[in-house]
Amino acid sequence: MNSELSTCALCPRLCRDRCPVSVGSGREATTPTSIMTAVLLAKKNPELEPQAAQAVDLCTRCGQCTSACGLDMPVVEMLDQARTILQPAPKAWVPPTIRGNARQVAIISGDTDWSPALEKLLNEDVATLHTNDFLGAAHQWRTDTREAHTAQLTELFKHRTAITADHICAQVIDSTSIPIEHLHSLLPEHSLPRWRSCHEPNEGRHVSTMTKCCGASGPLQNTHPDIAKEVGRDIARRLDGQHVYSADERCARHLQSCGAAVTGPVEWLMSQGDPDANR
Ligand code: SF4
Ligand code: SF4
Repeated sequence: MNSELSTCALCPRLCRDRCPVSVGSGREATTPTSIMTAVLLAKKNPELEPQAAQAVDLCTRCGQCTSACGLDMPVVEMLDQARTILQPAPKAWVPPTIRGNARQVAIISGDTDWSPALEKLLNEDVATLHTNDFLGAAHQWRTDTREAHTAQLTELFKHRTAITADHICAQVIDSTSIPIEHLHSLLPEHSLPRWRSCHEPNEGRHVSTMTKCCGASGPLQNTHPDIAKEVGRDIARRLDGQHVYSADERCARHLQSCGAAVTGPVEWLMSQGDPDANR
């Protein structure tokens, strides 16, 4: 890993304009180059480990740096490895309970239980799972807990289909062989212009904000919520008052809290009984 760290640490910050944390916070210390430099220095001087342990979480795991990098540097995986070395392992994950026996399970990760509205839309029963830690996502952001966490999830869902409204839960489920549906894909098209998050392909008509990540994702939100807000406010400024639709519920909630007019899939689902709502 040292040679990869050195490559980024010696790079003239070529991906900084694509990194939402670097752009949104406006801080030199949040560029991928600076983060890798902090990790490299901590390897040579253990006294610098506390700073490096904080720096590795200045990331949403959006992957935009790797897309911009001419060398395809695997920054997300490099930071996951560094996090494993520099930070203590989280407590063992306690799987939540799935309520109901239906073959489809709605993953509720926010305050609104949208499963009754989904049952109405699909005209079938839906089981529910409430999670307050995005299905233990932090266990996927380091290399030593990932495998056991994936096995726990597989055991929890068995062969049932997970339905999620946010991309963090989707990323976690994607680490398993559990079938998955995104709530967005079950809903009728929205008439609002679409803002695409970093987890979606940059295809089709959409509202571009240059950087694509709202800041609500990954270790950044858990460890540096103040900087996650700065990133969200930067996107809100770029949207310039325009009302948009986001297929990622977590992005929609975060951007709303940062002052942007964003409708997410849960709000869109809940308004299905009222065709004039949210238009
Ligand atoms: S990911 Fe690529 S562009 Fe970004 S700092 Fe590393 S080497 Fe430079
Ligand atoms: S993965 Fe995203 S947030 Fe993390 S360093 Fe790269 S561009 Fe920045």
